[in-house]
Amino acid sequence: MNESFGNLIGGQWRHSVETLPDVNPSDTSDVIGQYAVASAADVGEAVGLARAAGRKWAATTPQEKADRLDAIGTEIGARSADLARQLAREEGKTLREAQAEVTKAAQLFRFFAGEAVRLGGEHVRSIRPGIDVDVERRPLGVVALVTPWNFPLSIPAWKAAPALAFGNAVILKPSELTNASAWSLADIVNRHLPAGVFQLLMGGGKVGQALIGSAGVEAVSFTGSVQTGAAITRAAAPGMKLQLEMGGKNPLIVMEDADLALAVDCAVKGAFYSSGQRCTASSRLIVHQAVSARFIDMLTRAAEPLRVGHALDEHTDIGPLVSAAQLERVQGYVETGKREGARLLFGAERVEARTKGFYLRPALFVDTRSQHRINQEEIFGPVASVIEVGSLDEAIDVGNDTAFGLCAGMFTRSLTYARQFRQRIVAGMTMINLPTVGTDYHVPFGGARASSFGPRECGSGAREFYTTSVTTYTAG
Ligand code: NAD
Repeated sequence: MNESFGNLIGGQWRHSVETLPDVNPSDTSDVIGQYAVASAADVGEAVGLARAAGRKWAATTPQEKADRLDAIGTEIGARSADLARQLAREEGKTLREAQAEVTKAAQLFRFFAGEAVRLGGEHVRSIRPGIDVDVERRPLGVVALVTPWNFPLSIPAWKAAPALAFGNAVILKPSELTNASAWSLADIVNRHLPAGVFQLLMGGGKVGQALIGSAGVEAVSFTGSVQTGAAITRAAAPGMKLQLEMGGKNPLIVMEDADLALAVDCAVKGAFYSSGQRCTASSRLIVHQAVSARFIDMLTRAAEPLRVGHALDEHTDIGPLVSAAQLERVQGYVETGKREGARLLFGAERVEARTKGFYLRPALFVDTRSQHRINQEEIFGPVASVIEVGSLDEAIDVGNDTAFGLCAGMFTRSLTYARQFRQRIVAGMTMINLPTVGTDYHVPFGGARASSFGPRECGSGAREFYTTSVTTYTAG
């Protein structure tokens, strides 16, 4: 019998009638635990408690907020080995990748501890005589966080840390596939905060939907698919503030003057590591025809030795996909690519490992066109395609030829190419001679077009989203 884990409501762990198993994607015989599914009554109660607790939390001093967030960051850091192991076990990324994610979660809490103290306002001269104008930032109230499975610790952390730093109460609704990491985070956060300031409601889309439709919730920060983002926009209660971080179809452009060894190394990391399950994954490799044969050859040789296997094995480079449904979806796209006439150069075979899991060998399509569905839709798996181009203009046109605009990269030694790329590519984040994956926690994160809606995550974007401004005019 697996251990059961409850929702966190008003500082108490509350078990539920309905539960969901959390299954290890590297070994489907390994069930991590049974996790509670919140009911509609749980949602109503949590929102009411959050409103009351949030008012008191907003009134605490910046120093108190900073001290508590710093303690959370310190505890995450101190427990990083266990947290990383649990994360790798339930999500399927390798231990190395999981460790990096835990480190980032700790850094986020420590960074926003400082931001709690730095939150300032503006004193402005009025256009009229004898009047002072002050613009201050205030908390929103209750904020719901709806998060995906691919970064089960760092995405909740990068939303919760600023929300709390700026005086809001938080209700986290994590992905039903990765409850264990969210539960552990809630366990840590709860021990350092007054009851009700941070609550955890687990379950599927229905729980998320109930939160979003709740009049007591002032704002929702969501990360997930474009489809769910659209459903959230439709279901949001009137006046609700929304921040939506969604998919990507990120181009990585390799020009004819690029350092090819570097470009290949970054393409492999960006396209295949974490099984390609990253919103910033380099899924479209847009390569100048003068170097495409060499690039493809080098990439093939670099991908060949990658070891696909159990996430907790020390020698694994690439873990499994997160679930059977995700595996099926990725395999479906591989078939679509073949049907459309793209050439599967290598990969996409199921891998037999020592345990039964959702393993797939990294795959590369060549001879593809921009209009192919595999170049337009987010696959979210270890599958990349090469699109050949003949010029900078063509590379940028192809780079911009999707509905998305999250992150874009270019490999070049030319300042002119790099400047043109930065100015003309449509993306919220651009990388020059770097992988499209891997971002800092203290600067804005987000995209253009269908990738994002609302203020950016992290950095100054977080303050913009998690506070509202009040302008006060004083005469006397
Ligand atoms: P998903 O959209 O299926 O689920 C995300 C969250 O929304 C989960 O907690 C889920 O339970 C909840 N949900 C589902 N239906 C809902 C509804 N109708 N109302 C409210 N909540 C609902 O996404 P996923 O499969 O967990 O994650 C993968 C997706 O996340 C990919 O598309 C990826 O690109 C995206 N992602 C984006 C970023 C970014 O910052 N842009 C980062 C990571 C992942």
